[in-house]
Amino acid sequence: MPDQPRSFTAASFNAYLKEGKLMGVRCRACGHLSAQPRPLCPTCHGDEVEWHQFSGRGRLSTFTCISVAPAALGKQGFGRNNPYCTGIVTLEEGPRVSARILGVDARNPQSIETGMALVLDLAEMDAERPAPAFRRRCSMRSRPSAA
Ligand SMILES: [Zn+2]
Repeated sequence: MPDQPRSFTAASFNAYLKEGKLMGVRCRACGHLSAQPRPLCPTCHGDEVEWHQFSGRGRLSTFTCISVAPAALGKQGFGRNNPYCTGIVTLEEGPRVSARILGVDARNPQSIETGMALVLDLAEMDAERPAPAFRRRCSMRSRPSAA
C-alpha cells in the first residue's frame, strides 16, 4: 500500500513497528499527541488526525519484572528463573507507552531506575507479535535533569 494513508488502527501501528517506526496520532485541530492509533482526538473529538513519528527517546516512568511469562515469552526462555521487565515509558514528546524494557537485570529490580533514559530498540521484536521495546540509552551518562 505505497502512498496510501494508513487507517488509524492497531494493525497499522504494528505495521509501522515492523518498519522500525514508533508512530502515534496528532490532532491537526488542537495539536494533541496520542501514542495510541485512534481516528478521533480524545481532547477535542475532531477527526482531523494524522500519523506522527516519535523520536524513540523517552524515560522510564514505572516498571515491573514478570516471572510468570505468557507462552510466547516462555518460548524465548523467560519464566520463573528468568523474569523479564516491562514498563511505562514517557516519550520525550509527552505521551506514554507500555513497552518491554531490554538490557536491564530483571532478577535484580533494585538495579533498575525510574527516570532512566531509554531509546526505542526493535531489534529483538517478534514479527508475529509486534510490540514496542526500549533499551537504556547509555551513550550519555548524564543524569535526568530536574524537570
Ligand atoms: Zn484535537
